[in-house]
Amino acid sequence: MADHVPFTDLTAMTGEVWPSIEQDYLACLRGGGYVGGRPVASFEQEWSAYCGAGHAVGVGNGTDALELTLTALGVGPGDEVVVPANTFIATAAAVVRAGAIPRFADVSDDTLLMTPDTLSEALTPRTRAVIVVHLFGQVPDMAGLLAVAAEAGILVVEDAAQAHGAQWRGRRAGSFGDAACFSFYPGKNLGAFGDAGAVVTSRPELADRVRALANHGRSHGAAHYEHDYLGTNSRLDALQAIALSGKLARLDAWTQRRIALAARYRDVLSGAADVRLTGVSPSARHVYHLFTVRVAARDRVRAELARRGIQTGVHYPVPCHMQPPLRRFAHRPLPVAEHAAGELLSLPMFPHLTEGQVDLVCAALSDALREPADGSELVDAP
Ligand SMILES: *Cc1c(COP(=O)(O)O)cnc(C)c1O
Repeated sequence: MADHVPFTDLTAMTGEVWPSIEQDYLACLRGGGYVGGRPVASFEQEWSAYCGAGHAVGVGNGTDALELTLTALGVGPGDEVVVPANTFIATAAAVVRAGAIPRFADVSDDTLLMTPDTLSEALTPRTRAVIVVHLFGQVPDMAGLLAVAAEAGILVVEDAAQAHGAQWRGRRAGSFGDAACFSFYPGKNLGAFGDAGAVVTSRPELADRVRALANHGRSHGAAHYEHDYLGTNSRLDALQAIALSGKLARLDAWTQRRIALAARYRDVLSGAADVRLTGVSPSARHVYHLFTVRVAARDRVRAELARRGIQTGVHYPVPCHMQPPLRRFAHRPLPVAEHAAGELLSLPMFPHLTEGQVDLVCAALSDALREPADGSELVDAP
């Protein structure tokens, strides 16, 4: 498989960052301060400054970031939270785990993101909040969404798990809502060496509340066994914070690479009649966590690409409101999300991908689209 193109390559990023963090990493290992501490405090400081928000609280992962944020905002039983239908299940699962009810919104047929109109359609008198998802790395129309939210008097939480450094009209993801939730899962644009996440907010009391909830309900300054709330354990590890600080220094360069590679994909694929590109608003700086296109006969095309050594992904094959544990919250058909789910195809995208590999993927995709279905058994791609 000379043409093998992986979907992503985490070890290339690790190799690039390791020389700059090796000393701190080993010092931490030898020093024994493994949870919290100075590395976590300094990463939190760097991350909130990067996002243009007042505070960051490191937590265990992006899913916990969402659930802790909703709980800290007082969203719970009886409250509805609007979430887009096309997102990773964690967005909606966090709502259910916080005790609230997810209400699903359809997405734009062009950008595949929630719009002010689809948000409006999903509002009811019980809506307390909306989780705006910057899916694939693109921030949606925040002026419109914030206006609808303000009019309805609801809270705004950003799910920025795919959007580190993404911008909308020059403002960074994480600076728009009451709070924003980041995942630093290894495959995200800024990824740790394991699970990690953060809540970013400019509301100091909210940051304190999230921090307490993530640390067994201990408030700042309270004695070790004094608990003001019933919380959980979802803290950021020092070793992960060291890795994240090291990678943050490279995030903008890696994002530039993703943007350049996406431009090449767009150039080559704009001529392919059977490939539908995802729209990008002129107001958005898309950071391409994923480069997702739409094709008919997606599963056949995907299997053909796999046969040629090209790994792809599907984000996401089943809209959230059609996932078995969430079906009971579905109210109505969401035609755009439902139709797109059968066509979405994510092509290889990571900073160390080369232009030559992009060209290989595009050529293989054109071939796969040209080949008529031959009736042979479909094979599942890895
Ligand atoms: C990855 C992801 C999450 C969950 O983050 P974890 O760190 O894996 O828990 C939530 N929402 C979206 C949109 C994601 O892509």
